[in-house]
Amino acid sequence: MSGSSGKGVRRRVLELVTSLSVYRQLHGIRDLELDYIRRVEEAQAEAMERVRRLAEGAGSLVDLVDRLASEGLLLEIADLIAVKAGLERPSRAGREEVARVLSGDVDFPGGRAILLALQAAARSYAEAVLERERPASRVSNICPLCGAASETMYRRRGSHYMVCHFCGYTWRVSGEVPACPRCSATPPLDVGIVSDKSRRLGLARCGRCGYTWRIILDEHVRAPLIALPLIALGAERFRGAVEAAGLGDVEDHEGGYEA
Ligand SMILES: [Zn+2]
Ligand SMILES: [Zn+2]
Repeated sequence: MSGSSGKGVRRRVLELVTSLSVYRQLHGIRDLELDYIRRVEEAQAEAMERVRRLAEGAGSLVDLVDRLASEGLLLEIADLIAVKAGLERPSRAGREEVARVLSGDVDFPGGRAILLALQAAARSYAEAVLERERPASRVSNICPLCGAASETMYRRRGSHYMVCHFCGYTWRVSGEVPACPRCSATPPLDVGIVSDKSRRLGLARCGRCGYTWRIILDEHVRAPLIALPLIALGAERFRGAVEAAGLGDVEDHEGGYEA
């Protein structure tokens, strides 16, 4: 059942939970939420094992989802996730339900479980793509694989990457300088960043296009890609400061950094 490149359910859950525990001070997620995250991860990891082979052979995410929906496998994994995560079980998960969930409506029996099943499929597909090719290079805040809008940037080996909170795909936006993923404006003139004292986490705002996003500034933060958006949520504590300071407004760039 598990593919040769599969991470395995236990290892996947362990990596996510461990990294969220290690960076507890950064993200500030509470125990209760962590418990739910663990249950969902266990369920999704199992679902990912089941769809891995299909994900590896799929030409696109749309093709994969279409196949899962038409062959009944989507209902199977959505049901598995519902049972494991304690959610309402779906009775159907065909093209109609997929379209409904993707339009943002999960308010029907099993809707949330179907969303989590679609996420498991997307994560599986993103992993397969990242295993066979390098991350794409593009200035965009929209995930090129699943179309979700990302608000999370991180730094690796002198480059800045975005990571998708939905599928975990990652793409390179810029080099040394953390450029705005939407319009490529750069600090200090057009982008202001408020960060903690140790400069591990920051909230950036672009004065040119108005986009705000979170940055894990510390290269040494090591966690599975899917955990990075959760860890970066800790940057929300700077939102008030960013808005109050009008950071990113062109005239106020000098104050963009806080020690
Ligand atoms: Zn994505
Ligand atoms: Zn911008």
